[in-house]
Amino acid sequence: MNCRHCNTPLKQTFLDLGFAPPSNAYLSQADLCKPEKYYPLKVKVCTQCWLVQTEDYAQADELFNAEYAYFSSTSSSWLDHASSYAKMAIDRFQLSDKSYVIEIASNDGYLLKNFIASGIPCLGIEPTDSTADSAEILGVPVLREFFGDALGKQLANNNQQADLIVGNNVYAHVPDINDFTHGLKAALKPEGTITLEFPHLMRLIEHTQFDTVYHEHFSYLSLYTVERIFNAAGLRIWDVDQLATHGGSLRIYGCHTEDSRTSTQAVMTLMVEEVRRGLQSIPTYQNFQARANRVKDDLLNFLIEQKRAGKKVAAYGAAAKGNTLLNYAGIKPDLLPFVCDASQAKQGKYMPGSHIPIFMPSALAESHLDYVLILPWNIAKEVREQNAELIESGIQFVTVAPFLKVAQ
Ligand SMILES: [Zn+2]
Repeated sequence: MNCRHCNTPLKQTFLDLGFAPPSNAYLSQADLCKPEKYYPLKVKVCTQCWLVQTEDYAQADELFNAEYAYFSSTSSSWLDHASSYAKMAIDRFQLSDKSYVIEIASNDGYLLKNFIASGIPCLGIEPTDSTADSAEILGVPVLREFFGDALGKQLANNNQQADLIVGNNVYAHVPDINDFTHGLKAALKPEGTITLEFPHLMRLIEHTQFDTVYHEHFSYLSLYTVERIFNAAGLRIWDVDQLATHGGSLRIYGCHTEDSRTSTQAVMTLMVEEVRRGLQSIPTYQNFQARANRVKDDLLNFLIEQKRAGKKVAAYGAAAKGNTLLNYAGIKPDLLPFVCDASQAKQGKYMPGSHIPIFMPSALAESHLDYVLILPWNIAKEVREQNAELIESGIQFVTVAPFLKVAQ
């Protein structure tokens, strides 16, 4: 396999998690009697452009089907994040009823509803029917397509170029990152701005967040590599914010190469920081597997010890990253009998691979537990706050990365 950006042959493995089913392929009761598809889950790094990338086995249309269960609006901290982003963007880019905002992967309209409320025309692009239906109920116009160069050009031809193109947690999920970036270029007005948010590779490595690796997540991105990909498409990055979301994300601000805006100091500072942390040197990538294995071993140890001591453990958050962790560790319902999740679309289903059942959050209080393992560690604080009465009753909450931590 060659690098998806620069076509250099990929020789250096970053992480090998064996075989796993797609992390969002939640199963119904009927599915449990059928065979389940597993794909190799291996991540490589290009030593030319330093793009960290999942080996390509599954087709995007197979992974993001109509049953895709993730609705952005189920996370209250994410809704707050979206609304403060909209306020910032409207102010900073002086958006008005004459502007046009396009969001790629607009999901259930969690973000664009804020622009609609301010009277700013917008368009969501979202291939998943179930979430697009929810967005349209909120009054968000949705184009039900995958975004890429062809669609970007089509929007330009239809006089639908944007003043602001937003992509939150989509860039890392795109199989053909060059084609997608050319689409951004085509759909952007001459003075327009692109903002993309994606988990920062530097934080993934720093905090051993290996469970953020799954098939639908094709790229693990640094500022340096995204700047290279942007440059190759006639775009450049002129500002960057470091965010706490998803364990440490970047929000990059892009524009056309010939745009007159000057780059901020934040861009240069972070470029230097990435080099200092070894993001462009091979040993950084060679020792990550051992750190991931330690996290997995510690979790298995913990669950086995609790089972032998007669303690009860369940999990909270049927997130994709939880599936990576449970499947890599080979954890099944004998060690972890159920997972709770606030998303109604997931309740009553089963985790792919592990076949652990997903219940309503009320099951936590009803099951006389000793420990709750929080699988989506990025919302651990929110989960603890929502379950304050469980903590008062003596249940302890557990997170695994970068170290197994038990806290009341
Ligand atoms: Zn490359």
